[in-house]
Amino acid sequence: MDTLKDTLISAIRTIPDYPKPGILFRDITTLLGNASAFRRAVDQLVYPYAGTKIDKVAGMEARGFILGGAVAHQLSAGFIPIRKKGKLPHETVRIAYSLEYGIDEMEMHKDAVQPGEKVILVDDLIATGGTAVGAVSLLRQMGAEIVAACFVIDLPDLGGRKKLEEMGVKVRTLVE
Ligand code: AMP
Repeated sequence: MDTLKDTLISAIRTIPDYPKPGILFRDITTLLGNASAFRRAVDQLVYPYAGTKIDKVAGMEARGFILGGAVAHQLSAGFIPIRKKGKLPHETVRIAYSLEYGIDEMEMHKDAVQPGEKVILVDDLIATGGTAVGAVSLLRQMGAEIVAACFVIDLPDLGGRKKLEEMGVKVRTLVE
């Protein structure tokens, strides 16, 4: 049976022990390279928001740029790149966020969002939630209203979804 979940799951490649031993890396490049799976994933991410006014889609570097760009196009919204520190050329706001081991910093342009704008956050996968929690905090600091955070893949055992929900963020994921 070709359910959407089956299609998406079979389009995602799993690489064991990447980038380090013990990690099962969920590689979405195979999904992106499959025209039908890519379209269905994007359609499925956006359909609850069709007809809703979304001002901007924010995507996290780097796979969030690909999915987020497609989602922004579908929703006729602008796009905000959230990047690792030091990559954006204009004045930025920055926030520290937790990684599995240690912390890093992400940033966005100060003028990327206006207070009250409705924003959807997009990334390929949510694991511990450190990245998404950082991005939501940064966007809220600039006055954005987070309508939802959308991911193709949820790793529920790592608790990221729960952390976002505890911050009052609606979370949409397609496969676990
Ligand atoms: P986290 O901040 O722990 O929720 O991790 C999410 C970020 O790390 C996303 O940008 C993912 O692309 C990446 N990531 C974390 N774990 C994996 C994994 N097992 N496979 C692929 N990407 C991952």
